[in-house]
Amino acid sequence: MQSVGVPPDSHIKPVLEIIKEEITLTMKNKRICPKCGSSDIRIIDGYAGAYGSGNNIMTGATIFSAVNVDRYICCSCGFTEEWINTEDIPKIEKSKKAHK
Ligand SMILES: [Zn+2]
Repeated sequence: MQSVGVPPDSHIKPVLEIIKEEITLTMKNKRICPKCGSSDIRIIDGYAGAYGSGNNIMTGATIFSAVNVDRYICCSCGFTEEWINTEDIPKIEKSKKAHK
């Protein structure tokens, strides 16, 4: 007997993933504040300067281990969001400083 009306679980999950992406990527990709809806978003690019300065995460002991963190700031309400490049994610995963 075929089920009618309720789609199987495998059809539900991708939709939830899409909704999740829509919410989480709002500020970074659409430049819209998820808190107040403003589009006045400014970006401070992450960088690694001398003596640990800059907006970054040190995954090891040297500057080469630094992962830059970009900040997205809403100039309407002050909400900020931080993102790293996806190619830097393995550095975080391998770092002894990062834990679950
Ligand atoms: Zn805002």
